[in-house]
Amino acid sequence: MPILDCHTHILPAEIIVQRERLLVREPWFGLLYANPKNRLAMLPDLLAAMDEAGVSQAVAFGFAFVDMGLCRLANEYVLEAARSSGGCLIPFAVVNPAAGEEAIREARRCLEQGARGLGELMPDGQGFSLEGDALDGLAALARAYGAPMLLHVNEPVGHAYAGKGTQGPKEAYALAVRHPENTFLLAHWGGGLPFYELMPEVKGALSRVYYDTAASPYLYEDAIYRHVGGWAASKILFGSDFPLLTPSRCLRRVRRLGLSAEVEAQILYGNAARLLGLGDMSKGR
Ligand SMILES: [Zn+2]
Repeated sequence: MPILDCHTHILPAEIIVQRERLLVREPWFGLLYANPKNRLAMLPDLLAAMDEAGVSQAVAFGFAFVDMGLCRLANEYVLEAARSSGGCLIPFAVVNPAAGEEAIREARRCLEQGARGLGELMPDGQGFSLEGDALDGLAALARAYGAPMLLHVNEPVGHAYAGKGTQGPKEAYALAVRHPENTFLLAHWGGGLPFYELMPEVKGALSRVYYDTAASPYLYEDAIYRHVGGWAASKILFGSDFPLLTPSRCLRRVRRLGLSAEVEAQILYGNAARLLGLGDMSKGR
């Protein structure tokens, strides 16, 4: 069975060598990478991690910087990595929504050059809210290209950690309601939004919203797969948040849960294939 990791970060050497300087220049990057143990990865690192885990395809993107120049550098690298990967990598593009027209231009350029989606965008790191009009322009562009948008969303309760933002299920829900025709992939289990899909009217408004499992072992007990899989199995996409976690570690945890073969296949590949229009596992919405 093919496996797709829908949430991986890679960066080019020219950004990685600037790490120390960027810790100061880019506050959110500084928050996440001040700890020298938090690795940055390049394409070969990702390919090796995929190999080790038996992951056949990965959605890859850079880091959502404030500086659009850095976003562009990251996008160039990811697009080139995808071109050289023979279909293993599915590139997404990062832009700073707060940069207005410049962000839209760069997003369009990347979508024209093969990017399949936008993200992972970082509301707190880049200074925008999921509520309100901040994403209107990018959402319209993404709609026109049939491209999903991947957004960093956090749980509003629980332990504090570097990178825990203020944008949670409430804000993500407002975003989905504002843009009903867009497809959104909400990272980190959408901050808990899947639980509100048990409310019929909320479920109706979230028909184009999906959730990834990035960093799940740091946030939730693994039982979350079984619970959310009970009512929203078609909306969960396996993602590791590499290099924060390796796909092999995350996969091991999914596989020991004893999920039904059907649900496991949906989470590990089928849902992503449908969302991204890949292969013959696509069954339409
Ligand atoms: Zn994230």
